[in-house]
Amino acid sequence: MDVFERIADEGHEQVVHCYDKATGLRAVIAVHSTRLGPALGGTRFFPYASEAEAVEDVLRLARGMTYKAAAAGLDLGGGKAVIIGNPATDKSEPLLRAYARFVDALGGRYITAEDVGTTQPDMDIVRKETRHVTGISQWLGGSGDPSAATAWGVLHAMKAVGKRLWGTTSLAGRHVVVSGVGKVGYCLTRHLVEERARITVADVNAAAVERTVGDLQVDTVPPEKAHTVECDIFSPCAMGGALSPSTIPELRCAGVVGSANNQLATAECGDLLAEAGVLYAPDFIVNAGGIINIAEELVGYHQERAYEQVRRIYDTTDAVLETAAAEGVTTAVAAERLAERRIEAVAGVRLFRTPDDLHH
Ligand code: NAD
Repeated sequence: MDVFERIADEGHEQVVHCYDKATGLRAVIAVHSTRLGPALGGTRFFPYASEAEAVEDVLRLARGMTYKAAAAGLDLGGGKAVIIGNPATDKSEPLLRAYARFVDALGGRYITAEDVGTTQPDMDIVRKETRHVTGISQWLGGSGDPSAATAWGVLHAMKAVGKRLWGTTSLAGRHVVVSGVGKVGYCLTRHLVEERARITVADVNAAAVERTVGDLQVDTVPPEKAHTVECDIFSPCAMGGALSPSTIPELRCAGVVGSANNQLATAECGDLLAEAGVLYAPDFIVNAGGIINIAEELVGYHQERAYEQVRRIYDTTDAVLETAAAEGVTTAVAAERLAERRIEAVAGVRLFRTPDDLHH
């Protein structure tokens, strides 16, 4: 694989290989874009089969973060990091601190956070070596677990979809199927109960279903059948790839609005959804609540202000649906256009900020 060719193709700015002999650290940090601000994105700790696989993943994820931050209206760019290894056996304080020193050496061009395989306590360790980390504990000035903020954003995206489909933001009486009642799905279900929606939930983890039913008295469906239930909104809140050429023809919903990342199994699935007459709210627009919440740490975290920012996902979703209708493209394409246009329009005129400005 020619990395230079690959990074030039996708417009990455910088890809850093990090190695520390003493701790065995092998990490790759990708800074896709700093045109709107420092590149924010989590650190994934994963046992990649090869270095090439790790590089492939970090490049793909970093680019996705640029779009997510830009569309969310943040003055942040996109980046991501991967640590190659098994988090259960290879993670240690010295390794995380060695990694953090590489993050620090980028001088704030890259700001990290937790992701698959890393946790909030890991970020607290990273904080010992660098200020360029978010998602740290509340007692260190952080914002804590972002899942509740993400669920708050999904709810408002759902209201925007509801407004377009039925002319009202009220979800009262609407039937919503939530697939995956983990951290985000459970919080979302709670909001939907408050909205007086009718809710059916599914999860591969029986305990998660039991807790949700016990607390919130909702209906259930086996996880493999969740997408086939006749309903108003299907909400994928589990793993990626829920919308595929095999599941899309089985959908019996008017709209799809969920927190899961990478819901479209392939790019063509955006077209398949449009052809099936299903209004799809693009995942990276819907689930931006987490990153919006975390970004507030950079100016001093205040929950009320953060949640007010997250609520604006309603407007972003509405703008995406409007653009798709006006320009005759799928909502997935409209979301990318929105992000690209904001980068083009804002990058040239925004006040230049150093990372130090951001940290007060
Ligand atoms: P989580 O691990 O807490 O919950 C996921 C739930 O999905 C679990 O209960 C799991 O048992 C269940 N699940 C797994 N496979 C399933 C299947 N095939 N069918 C039904 N249920 C299944 O994760 P989370 O933090 O709630 O995140 C959910 C999704 O939202 C993920 O895709 C995540 O990447 C995305 N997301 C989360 C956040 C956040 O703030 N937590 C932010 C942005 C995006």
